[in-house]
Amino acid sequence: MKKIITIIFIPFLLFAYKVDIKKWNSHYTFYEFLKDYHIPLKIYYTLNTKLKREVRHIKSGTMYFILKNNNNFKQALIPLNDKQQIQIIKKRNRFITKIVPIIYDTTKKRVSITIHKYLTYDIYKATGSNMLTRKLLNIFGDKVNFKSIPKGTVIKAVYEEKSKFGKVKDIKVLFASVKNRYYNYMAFLNPRDGRYYDQHAKSLKGMFLPTPISYKRISSYFGMRYHPILHRWRMHDGIDFVNKIGTPVHAVADGKIIYKGWMHGYGKVIKIKHNDGYITLYAHLHGWPKGIYKGQWVKQGQTIGYLGNSGLSTGPHLHFGVMHFGKWINPLNIRKSARITLWGKARKAFFSYIKKFSKKNKIALK
Ligand SMILES: [Zn+2]
Repeated sequence: MKKIITIIFIPFLLFAYKVDIKKWNSHYTFYEFLKDYHIPLKIYYTLNTKLKREVRHIKSGTMYFILKNNNNFKQALIPLNDKQQIQIIKKRNRFITKIVPIIYDTTKKRVSITIHKYLTYDIYKATGSNMLTRKLLNIFGDKVNFKSIPKGTVIKAVYEEKSKFGKVKDIKVLFASVKNRYYNYMAFLNPRDGRYYDQHAKSLKGMFLPTPISYKRISSYFGMRYHPILHRWRMHDGIDFVNKIGTPVHAVADGKIIYKGWMHGYGKVIKIKHNDGYITLYAHLHGWPKGIYKGQWVKQGQTIGYLGNSGLSTGPHLHFGVMHFGKWINPLNIRKSARITLWGKARKAFFSYIKKFSKKNKIALK
């Protein structure tokens, strides 16, 4: 953190300025903060919707910084989330706000852990935290059943630890492997797309997320059903996920938005075109986040809408459809089959990257 203060406050360090390090109290509000430092409320209204929400929900215990000159407010730096902080600068009698990134201390770590008891226990013993376990479950979740992992399995990992004030905030796994006498799975983080691939350039995870939304229940599956509003049998060519209005809906795979708007019975809709002839449809939406538009490229997991009740709908739910080469298919069947294999330039770049990486980190690619 010292680094950031130095970088950001550098023009002032030449003079006798003073930095106060403070802790955000549980009942303290951004409004009170502005009042305490005689900063006009106008500052709040100039922020966009997302930032307004974030300044209203600053976590208690957050460390923030006030720069003063002869007890006069000059600047404030308040972290808003893990990545960004808001900087408020007083210039003569005007106030300016900026959003600046938070810089962490990064340490590279290498571990090799043999499972004697069980995964969580042995990893905790070796690293002092559960973070690596959580990441491994995520990376190898489709391949390895960690609940019944054989004793003697060797877990290797190369990762970056991001910390602030000496406290580990997050880790980024660059490589991991799970090896025993039955299998040897490797995962390399591809710096080009942020996905994990094995040593043959095949993705460990499917091209699709298992579901586009966190849901309470599925109210209707893919197949023939009696339509509750139209009162006749017809094909239900998707899956209906039930949850509260406003629940975020995520793109299940990278792709391009090819439709955003109203579509007869489907109400408010997003349609995304993906690789390999896939199109996904998200219907009965309540609305869309700001900045979502037709023609936009979106990433897997990105919020592209909110669950709603628009169009011909009996209650708040998301209708999710998957089309493959022009035909609706059962969304539950796509997950395991569709993996990404890198080809062409991307494949070449990946192989040259893992070759260098493996040599440096003494990883046998066989
Ligand atoms: Zn439906």
